[in-house]
Amino acid sequence: MPQPKNAMEIFQLLDKSNCQECGRKTCLAFAGAVYMGQKSIRDCPRLAPEIIARVLGEAPAPHIVEQNREDYMQSLIEGIRQSDLAAAARRIGARFEDHRLRLKILGKNFSVDTEGRLAADIHVNPWVTVPFLHYVLHGKGVPATGNWVSLRELADGKERYPLFQKRCEAAMQAVADTYPDLFKDMVRLFNGRRVARQFESDISVVLDPLPQVPIMVCYWRPEDGMASSLKVFFDATADQNLDIGALFTLGVGLAAMFEKLALRHGYSVDQTQV
Ligand code: SF4
Repeated sequence: MPQPKNAMEIFQLLDKSNCQECGRKTCLAFAGAVYMGQKSIRDCPRLAPEIIARVLGEAPAPHIVEQNREDYMQSLIEGIRQSDLAAAARRIGARFEDHRLRLKILGKNFSVDTEGRLAADIHVNPWVTVPFLHYVLHGKGVPATGNWVSLRELADGKERYPLFQKRCEAAMQAVADTYPDLFKDMVRLFNGRRVARQFESDISVVLDPLPQVPIMVCYWRPEDGMASSLKVFFDATADQNLDIGALFTLGVGLAAMFEKLALRHGYSVDQTQV
């Protein structure tokens, strides 16, 4: 999320109680004072630390990120407990049996029961569980069309794309430049499919991190003094099956997983080269 550009954007972040604990008579006056540099955003004791960090352009402390993530996971699990999982399975193309919704993630079994308990053949971590739970709760079950687009072309993707480019595409590119078996492993270990070369790339592989949310990774090898390039594409329907935050998490999580894979095989990935 970008930092506020004017006093009204700061005002929108405040709780608007006009409690005066900051020493100003109203929240609006405080917002104006912050914008003019007369007050620090820290002077409002009612603001959450992560909002203060955002306004100040600081990265939030790791324990705050972790706590937010845990709270978010709990809210998704609570949503699962209150939802009709059998109906969700029908909607998103999953199976439902023994009180459990089951589907495949990268070819591996993944499931959740009516109490929100997860079970999986792969390591359960937030990059996969958050998109999975989101998909179960909010996915519309719209089938993929084969029309590939960048994240920035999806709903609300434009703002997210610069960070996505850095943390997903550039990170994967650094792995692809370093680890020669990356694309073979995408096929062998994660049930990917080599497809006809798209957008004049040298290699195109499609992965299925969720049944109706395929991802295509295209890689252009370095050539004639030109650096390599890697782009990640989603189906044009992806934003109907997952919101942009979950798509972002999915792409960045995949990049982190491939980086770990390269490290496990003894390759050190240097992202400063990108
Ligand atoms: S302390 Fe925060 S909530 Fe209270 S008046 Fe000031 S800005 Fe508004």
